Amino acid sequence: MKLRSQEAWNDDKFHDECGVFGVYAPGEDVARLTYFGLHALQHRGQESAGIAVADGVSILVYKDLGLVPQVFSERTIASLTGHIAVGHVRYSTTGSTRWENAQPVHKDCGGRSIVLAHNGNLINAHELRAELEKEGRVFTSTSDSEVMASLIALNANGSGIEGSIIKAMERLKGAYSALVATEEKLYAMRDPNGIRPLALGRLKKGWAISSETCGLDIVGAEYVRDVEPGELLVIDTSGPISIKAFEPARRALCIFEYVYFARPDSRLRDQLIYRARRAMGRFLAAEAPAGVDLIIGVPDSGTPAAIGFAEGAGIPFGEGLIKNRYVGRTFIEPSQTIRQLGVRMKLNPLSEVIKGRKLALVDDSIVRGTTSKKIVAMLKKAGAAEIHMRISSPPVAWPCFYGIDTANRNELIASSKSVYEIAEFIGADTLNYLSLDGLIKATGGSKDTFCSACFDGDYPLPVPRDVQLAKFMLEEGARK
Ligand code: AMP
Repeated sequence: MKLRSQEAWNDDKFHDECGVFGVYAPGEDVARLTYFGLHALQHRGQESAGIAVADGVSILVYKDLGLVPQVFSERTIASLTGHIAVGHVRYSTTGSTRWENAQPVHKDCGGRSIVLAHNGNLINAHELRAELEKEGRVFTSTSDSEVMASLIALNANGSGIEGSIIKAMERLKGAYSALVATEEKLYAMRDPNGIRPLALGRLKKGWAISSETCGLDIVGAEYVRDVEPGELLVIDTSGPISIKAFEPARRALCIFEYVYFARPDSRLRDQLIYRARRAMGRFLAAEAPAGVDLIIGVPDSGTPAAIGFAEGAGIPFGEGLIKNRYVGRTFIEPSQTIRQLGVRMKLNPLSEVIKGRKLALVDDSIVRGTTSKKIVAMLKKAGAAEIHMRISSPPVAWPCFYGIDTANRNELIASSKSVYEIAEFIGADTLNYLSLDGLIKATGGSKDTFCSACFDGDYPLPVPRDVQLAKFMLEEGARK
């Protein structure tokens, strides 16, 4: 049976790649710190930005569509006063660019209020929402984060906020690294599998929590530790109190954070992402050598692996593509014509460097294949003699249900084409990917502590059928 709100959900496609940042610091300009934190997390979401502040008595939320500096003016930041702040940046696919889906989400609960900022995707949001709607709860957005906020608010009357967050966590399935603020306290929680990252930092006068450690660096917060999977942190004047809400489940940190999503200057599990990406490049050079005269990377996400590849291969690294860093995604997406221009607007080849050369072109991933195809064509036009594409991760063949926009299964080129066919499609002379073993080795971790479902289809949490159908685009009955 179709849920009343199912169409809206499907339209939204559950794609929420986000960044969250929170501060508890009496005597500090918490909105400004959060602004800078969000600015450092801008790569995690460019569609909307928002900050909520609490001052012990009330909560104020300001959010809008756009990049962080477009949403917040000096005047707006100055008007957001308090000692607690929760911020959010959101990215989602075209079709769900709506103000209502911007975060933090605000909910009233029995004379008090809560705000919530969430990174990750719930996989049982349909079900929870239907239940809550039956009880008369009203939703203004199509986001799973509002379901989460509503669930917390629902329980808050009886059990207090801590209890209600734990009760909500018991019902939530999927990925969530989330921040909640009341008028008086800041809460940080992470799902029992720890799919999306979340780091705790110490400020001179308080605490900061960020999706990535690069957000802590920018506000001068000292990295303390990651919020543990299944943990709830309660932060007030007495500092963070840890509540182990759940027994640790199978750890399943998203390995795509290492490949593409996180910033190279962030640390995950004590490993600098830049270092991991460079190691991916070195291992790739060993697994798939290329007889070329120059190694170039696709900036910025392919650069560290290209440097590693050059080190491993003993072949010089050069800059063959120059990136215009001021072309944002949101600007490119609206029309198909402008989208076609997309790559050209972002990347321009340096023909002086590449003319007549045999190139190894290193990028972090191929998802749909359209980007690589355009880049290869552009480099050939600029005079490259040969292009050997090297990808510092395995083929992306399975959709993500936990928060990374890797498209429907039928849009993923590796789900239907062999490596040889992909090479033909993108026009490269040769194409090779890093093995999953090589990738895992580069992270310094072990397979059973990661979610690598996008590469091997091994989903750490069973995905409900309706959610699968939306992404696999399969007829009912076609898949177990
Ligand atoms: P394409 O193969 O055309 O879908 O583009 C893949 C390129 O986009 C990769 O080289 C990545 O740098 C980048 N990329 C990978 N995953 C994502 C994602 N989830 N959102 C946005 N860009 C991505």
